[in-house]
Amino acid sequence: MPNQPQREIPPDRALLYYAGMLLTAVGMLLFLSVFVSGCMNFGNFDHFEERARGEMARAFGGMVLMAVGQGMRALGAAGLAGSGVVLDPQKARKDLEPWSRSAGGMLADALDEAGLAKTTDAPAPPPVVKVRCRGCAALNDEHAKFCNQCGQPV
Ligand SMILES: [Zn+2]
Repeated sequence: MPNQPQREIPPDRALLYYAGMLLTAVGMLLFLSVFVSGCMNFGNFDHFEERARGEMARAFGGMVLMAVGQGMRALGAAGLAGSGVVLDPQKARKDLEPWSRSAGGMLADALDEAGLAKTTDAPAPPPVVKVRCRGCAALNDEHAKFCNQCGQPV
């Protein structure tokens, strides 16, 4: 395994993803087969009720398989946290990392930038206070005792 296995989607999750995909495909085939056999038997009303019941079961089973397959895929792709099963943000961040990295690392970049912006924000410089001379209206430093223009005490 590479040096940073925590940065890759764990193999069990990848397996879950592909198993979910397979399950979805099987469910879809099962579901579609109902319509195919329905078309082939169109106009044939022998044992109609019996067949209809079997097809209903197949259609329903197909739908369930597809739903479960989709759920497994979502879990495999984003992890428990990413798919909303676990709401611990610390865990979510870790689970989502391979995902956000595959998306160009935009999420990570945004998070890094936000952190960087916060740390490099220099403390605001103290406000410069000037005192206007009453005699000549020149601006003097706030601690000046005498005006730098006319020499009057400020
Ligand atoms: Zn002055």
